[in-house]
Amino acid sequence: MEKVQFQAESKRLLEMMIHSIYTHREIFLRELISNASDAIDKMYYKALTSNDLVFNKEDYFIKVSMDADARTLTIVDTGIGMNSEELAANLGVIAKSGSLAFKKNNESKDGHDIIGQFGVGFYSAFMVADSVTVISKSHGSDQAYRWESTGADGYTIEPCEKDTFGTEIILTIKESTEEENYEDYLKQYKLQNIIKKYSDFIRYPIKMDVTEQKPNEGAETEFEDIIVEKTINSMVPIWRKNKSELTKEDYNQFYQEKHFGWDEPLTHMHIHADGSVVYDAILYIPEKTPYDFYSKEYEKGLELYSSGVMIMEKCADLIPDFFGFVKGIVDSENLSLNISREMLQHDRQLKVIAKNIKTKIKNQLSTLLKNERDKYEKFYESFGRQLKFGVYNEFGTEKEVLQDLLLFYSSKDKKQITLDEYISRMPEEQKFIYYASGDSIARIEKMPQTERVTDAGYEMLFLTDDIDEFALKALRNYKEKDFKSVSSGDLGLPEIEDTTDEKEKDEQTELFSFLKTNLSGKVKDVRASKRLKSHPVCLTSEGELSIEMEKVLRAMPNAEKDMYEASKILEINVNHPVYETLKSSYASDKDKCSLYTSLLYHQALLIEGLPIADPIEFSNDICKIMK
Ligand code: ADP
Repeated sequence: MEKVQFQAESKRLLEMMIHSIYTHREIFLRELISNASDAIDKMYYKALTSNDLVFNKEDYFIKVSMDADARTLTIVDTGIGMNSEELAANLGVIAKSGSLAFKKNNESKDGHDIIGQFGVGFYSAFMVADSVTVISKSHGSDQAYRWESTGADGYTIEPCEKDTFGTEIILTIKESTEEENYEDYLKQYKLQNIIKKYSDFIRYPIKMDVTEQKPNEGAETEFEDIIVEKTINSMVPIWRKNKSELTKEDYNQFYQEKHFGWDEPLTHMHIHADGSVVYDAILYIPEKTPYDFYSKEYEKGLELYSSGVMIMEKCADLIPDFFGFVKGIVDSENLSLNISREMLQHDRQLKVIAKNIKTKIKNQLSTLLKNERDKYEKFYESFGRQLKFGVYNEFGTEKEVLQDLLLFYSSKDKKQITLDEYISRMPEEQKFIYYASGDSIARIEKMPQTERVTDAGYEMLFLTDDIDEFALKALRNYKEKDFKSVSSGDLGLPEIEDTTDEKEKDEQTELFSFLKTNLSGKVKDVRASKRLKSHPVCLTSEGELSIEMEKVLRAMPNAEKDMYEASKILEINVNHPVYETLKSSYASDKDKCSLYTSLLYHQALLIEGLPIADPIEFSNDICKIMK
């Protein structure tokens, strides 16, 4: 029979798994049991949507057995099974993103972290086994198949005999070496411990044949060994338990078991709601951003159970997009089991639960912000962007939920602050909440436009994330104070006395109109600046679209560049020596004045980080004045 090679990526990952992960080998059993439990869940779900199939709970179980002499460990389930195509597709390939993310997190020494994250659970069998045989009969099929592999060199699939539906996985446990002991996986009590430790909340019985001693009345030996089939796991779902019975480790363990993340959750919420709608939930806020979180591939959603049994793996309707990072389960008796997936989405109860959950998450985050700032900042680093997207995407309608959860970098504190912190220390006469946008804090700090605001002693929010300004625009104001970009419009600063006389004003008007004609099509207007102090020029904008926003929108894939154009104003500092030069060149040599105008305009573009349309012309201009 021909051996099929694993896909190249799978092969590498498999080798890494076998050779470089030394801790937590025992989790292979958790992975195989979880797969078995998933396979039974699938049967359950199938029964929900089919009229001919009845789910008798007694028929569904997982059985673990071993044969120390043959060095085999067997895991049997009565789940949905796999046909030959599924065996090849599911056990021959690892999702592409898996290896990419593996690289990113390879610093983690902790084996089970890595496995949990990528859904490569099955392969963990090779950490303890020389060869793995999977015998499976898919539900509704007449033919069973045997999948066999001794590791990285590939696998074979052939038809075989099997009476019942489901899957049987047989591991041939490795021989122990001086460095590694594999004997534990052939010992009854060790296996029991591992099952208890990792798979206690599996909803189906995990059975084992256990040797027990029975008093041997009247015989020479006092006890005799008998074999009894026992259910090892307690099966009580963790969310049904009392909070007081559970430790942080229990919650973390559940998080890992469920593959919610490879990190430790930052915080969790355990909800027993019995108001207008009754439900139990355990929700987690992860610490780290999942590698695909900000991509289209990421699917938000909570696991939905009805009376302890899973009915939907990722119920997206339970959480809003802006809290899409929240993981967890919701169990409610109020949901009707007979309704189909589509109908469930319109379920009124579900909507009430979702609303309730939204408030709970908001409150949890607010509490974290108030009482554990460090933790909150960690959270914000991972998911703050999502909250800001939320403000923007919902057109500010979720303002009440989100505005107090936002953090922005403060020009004064040199760290992230809340809008409330900003407002609370604002001088009474200050009219606006000022902000400045740019690529980096260092760059914003040097922005000419910030000079006068800094002089007035006002704090500014420095925005470096491309979504920031869009979010503030969607909020419009906070506690009745409008947001104001330092690069746009009248800053409402304390007036600086204007000593320009009428004659000078007329001269200015004439000069600026000349400059404006020179720059026609490039800027909308040229004006004397009220925000510059030491710099000669800057660009500002008028209207809804700022220069930073123009940059962001134009950088988007397939953007129609001309559609997004901020209405730009060139501001000139009339107190700067350069202005005098401009003035005298206007009087004596108009060509020179045009040349200076062009240079000043290009400088302003550079300061803004905007591209120069014709760098050659710019370079020639500089040469001209150097001559
Ligand atoms: P994951 O379980 O995270 O998807 P695995 O590598 O553990 O990744 O398993 C790959 C796939 O193989 C599963 O998604 C499932 O479709 C299938 N599979 C594994 N074990 C079983 C089983 N005991 N019964 C049915 N299907 C299984």
